[in-house]
Amino acid sequence: MRIDIATLFPEMCESVYTKSIVGRGIKNGYIEIYSHNIRSYTEDRHKNVDDKPYGGGTGMVMKAQPIYDCVQAISAQHKERPRIIYLSPKGETLTQKKVAELAKESGLILICGHYEGVDERVLEELKAEEISVGDYVLTGGELPALIIADAVARLQKGVLPNEDAYSIESHYSGLLEFPQYSRPEVWRDRKVPEILLSGDHKEVVRWQREKSLEETKKKRPDLFEAYTQRKISEIWEKFVAEKSPVITDNTSFRAVPLTKEQMKAVLRGKCTAVCDKTDLRQGEYIIFTSELKIPRCIAVVTKTNENTVYFKTVFKYKGENND
Ligand code: SAM
Repeated sequence: MRIDIATLFPEMCESVYTKSIVGRGIKNGYIEIYSHNIRSYTEDRHKNVDDKPYGGGTGMVMKAQPIYDCVQAISAQHKERPRIIYLSPKGETLTQKKVAELAKESGLILICGHYEGVDERVLEELKAEEISVGDYVLTGGELPALIIADAVARLQKGVLPNEDAYSIESHYSGLLEFPQYSRPEVWRDRKVPEILLSGDHKEVVRWQREKSLEETKKKRPDLFEAYTQRKISEIWEKFVAEKSPVITDNTSFRAVPLTKEQMKAVLRGKCTAVCDKTDLRQGEYIIFTSELKIPRCIAVVTKTNENTVYFKTVFKYKGENND
């Protein structure tokens, strides 16, 4: 993959991406990143790249012509049409999902604005998409461009040691990562969690999974809600695809969380009734989830009376990552 940054400050960009992990990735040929000085393309005899805004106002606007010519010259060096991105506080906010999408491209051209921004017409002419790194304003597009270049570069094969290095990370699956520890085992009376010293890989993975869910629930309830809702939709779709139940306009399902003990009993068929959900109706589906809202099985309500709802388990789901 090739990334080109069109900027008024190429040295500023080079000083970042030539270092550390991305720098090594470039040296080893896993990714190409170049910076281009927009000023080299100006037709202005004073080498000006900006001018006063029409309509007045503070600050200068970057002229269309040097940006257009710079991007055209870069595009001509690409084998396939590169994706053209203008870094802008008005753009779509960057997420890991967007990064993963960009990482699949063969080429990106990142245009960095400065001052008041760039002449709108060049964005229209280049059909540039706009990406923002957050709802705040920086002095230039260089830091945002470097954020994209870094995030995209680390997803290229070879840049990191293996896929785990980026897939078991915050945001990749929609969750935040579990807490990490290193030596020594005890530091200022704080011990590394016992399970991580046990050598029991299966239990360690289970612990990491649980911590990841807890961490997300505590620090990013918005992500937690989106993730668990997605998991509930997934199990429902899998159930419908595999078991072909009769679905009518009246078919409904509801998620009900269970403790570990209750879940074990339901999965083993030793529990077939609940007492505290008496508003459930006969024929309604129950998606039983863990306490951290991860779905494990689906049951259908077979009978109800005043105090008890009887159900039959109709679908069990192992899910991914020890869900
Ligand atoms: N006048 C512009 C506005 O109000 O939307 C802000 C211009 S800003 C001072 C200068 C340049 O920094 C922009 O052209 C853009 O390239 C870059 N920039 C600033 N904040 C950014 C953000 N949150 N995301 C991406 N780029 C940003």
